[in-house]
Amino acid sequence: MGGTFDPIHHGHLVAASEAQHLLGLDEVIFVPTGHPWQKNHRSVSRAEHRYLMTVIATASNPRFSVSRVDIDRPGPTYTIDTLRDLRTANPDADLFFITGADALEQILSWKDADELFDLAHFVGVTRPGHELSDEGLPEKGVTLTEVPAMAISSTDCRSRVAGSVPVWYLVPDGVVQYINKYGLYRPQSQAAGGGQ
Ligand code: ATP
Ligand code: MG
Repeated sequence: MGGTFDPIHHGHLVAASEAQHLLGLDEVIFVPTGHPWQKNHRSVSRAEHRYLMTVIATASNPRFSVSRVDIDRPGPTYTIDTLRDLRTANPDADLFFITGADALEQILSWKDADELFDLAHFVGVTRPGHELSDEGLPEKGVTLTEVPAMAISSTDCRSRVAGSVPVWYLVPDGVVQYINKYGLYRPQSQAAGGGQ
């Protein structure tokens, strides 16, 4: 499951759990994307924050794990590279690439989409406000899945933290504590060395 996970929230976790169950997947690997357009020191620590929050959020589920392939690869994150790296690490696995239906439309509109389908089956999960549509999607190789409605986004979580509005129960407890510990998403003056 690919995402920015800035921060990871219960919408992501429910979507992953639902896809795991519906498709009978052995494992869901969360893959935080790289942040290549910010090449200073802060962007590196930010990728590390996103990775660690994802580890914290998924640690209790034996079927969930986190991969560093995208955050460790220099340059922009392309799904084709993600899938090639995951294929190399899991040569015998059937790969399913899970992401939001919104992101899926973008990924599959790329010109090298055919190659993507050789590497994985694509799973698009919905959330409130993002209509399911298989228009323009190939018939084979894509599954669209409705997940229980959770009107949570990372954008909303970030702006809540910035405005001192609680994010308890929108993100896992350990992620709330991690955000507070490093002062993530706070206006600069309030941050406690979060390195945003
Ligand atoms: P941002 O608000 O910063 O864009 P986000 O909440 O969309 O963050 P991403 O890390 O971009 O989170 O999400 C990864 C994928 O998970 C996206 O493709 C997105 O559509 C999907 N997703 C995000 N929130 C939900 C949700 N509440 N329910 C189902 N899918 C979700
Ligand atoms: Mg998004």
